[in-house]
Amino acid sequence: MKKVSLSEKIKEITLAHGFRMSKSLGQNFLKDPEVLANIIQAAHLKTEDTVVEVGPGIGVMTQAIAREAGRVVAIEIDKGLIPILEETLEAYPGVEIIHEDILKVNLEELQGRCFPGIAPKVIANLPYYITTPIIMHFLESAMSFQSMIVMMQREVADRIMSGPGHKTYGTISVAVQYYTRVEKVMEVPRGAFLPEPKVDSMVIRLTPHPVPPVALDDHDHFFRTIKAAFSTRRKTLLNALSNHFDKALVARALTEAGIDPVRRGETLSIEEFARLSNSLYRIKKSS
Ligand code: SAM
Repeated sequence: MKKVSLSEKIKEITLAHGFRMSKSLGQNFLKDPEVLANIIQAAHLKTEDTVVEVGPGIGVMTQAIAREAGRVVAIEIDKGLIPILEETLEAYPGVEIIHEDILKVNLEELQGRCFPGIAPKVIANLPYYITTPIIMHFLESAMSFQSMIVMMQREVADRIMSGPGHKTYGTISVAVQYYTRVEKVMEVPRGAFLPEPKVDSMVIRLTPHPVPPVALDDHDHFFRTIKAAFSTRRKTLLNALSNHFDKALVARALTEAGIDPVRRGETLSIEEFARLSNSLYRIKKSS
């Protein structure tokens, strides 16, 4: 009997349902079974695991997850995919499909309602157009999770993994690394998707730190400091921060934190950003 490829299966199902893939929703479906197997393997799934999948598409990855994990909650924004998912996932009673925009889902509430007391694993082939907002939505939420195995545009993964002194180092690197340990899982060429996107992809694993890597006096102030430091990359820290905070206070904070004011934001480690933010926060409060 002729073996049907994943690509043919995707075409067959979408055609049968009269479904047209939407570029604006980042619908590039994974058609490479080897990449799929590697993603599943990277998640180290066990039967007692609960998985939150963002954007199940037509449910190919969801099926593979459901074969290993006891429970899967899959959140899909596209109404047109819901009847397809109901069909492809019919034989998987552990799967719950939720028709919703992931950015509008209150993740803490979802955890309380769907899997109370359980920290899920998050797995997703993310839609390119909102990769960073989706990752930050999970990291900033009160939902606890064991790990995130996420596929994204390679350039975004490079920025997330980057460190001080690199051109790709920026707000997103510091923000994600503040919350999690970041590891590269694999590179994925554009040919692994249907339709083929214009860029290559990468799968990374994010594992929440058991305790934050730095102690912060004020969480929001830390993020405001980072954003300010990276807002104008060619300026010195003193000048970049002075666009957002009082210059004299910034100068005092840099001295107190032992950071040369002529350095650029992109050279600071997370520890240095924390020291600087804490000094500035305390000086501002006492002035
Ligand atoms: N998981 C499938 C796969 O690997 O073939 C599809 C991945 S495709 C790159 C991204 C999926 O996310 C699509 O199914 C798309 O409709 C869905 N999506 C896009 N924006 C979304 C959002 N805001 N909330 C939930 N799902 C979204």
